[in-house]
Amino acid sequence: MKCSYCLNEIEKGTGFAFVSRNGTTRYYCTNRCKKLNLDHNRKLKIRKAKPKPKAS
Ligand SMILES: [Zn+2]
Repeated sequence: MKCSYCLNEIEKGTGFAFVSRNGTTRYYCTNRCKKLNLDHNRKLKIRKAKPKPKAS
């Protein structure tokens, strides 16, 4: 399996599995990848929620 964030191959017995709310499982090679990927998703959500800034 591959890391969902950096796409590195994860050896058996290593890495982290993360099950999201919609039931899909993501794998991360390191805790850092997991954190970065989750932060990335959160930022995307925040950006989507923000209204477009008015052009001045
Ligand atoms: Zn990774």
